[in-house]
Amino acid sequence: MAKEKRAQIQLKCEECGKINYWTEKNTDNTKEKLSLKKFCRHCRQHTLHSEAKMKKSKK
Ligand SMILES: [Zn+2]
Repeated sequence: MAKEKRAQIQLKCEECGKINYWTEKNTDNTKEKLSLKKFCRHCRQHTLHSEAKMKKSKK
């Protein structure tokens, strides 16, 4: 069984700051921050969405 290092991340619109997408990334393969062009329904256009790490929840 391979160990998977996956971090759950949010993709936040750079324009309005809203979080529009949730995704996972493999931290072994992807060390740098993700930024993707995606459709933001708040801006009603494609904008750059950058990675925003989830806050750690308390136990
Ligand atoms: Zn937006």
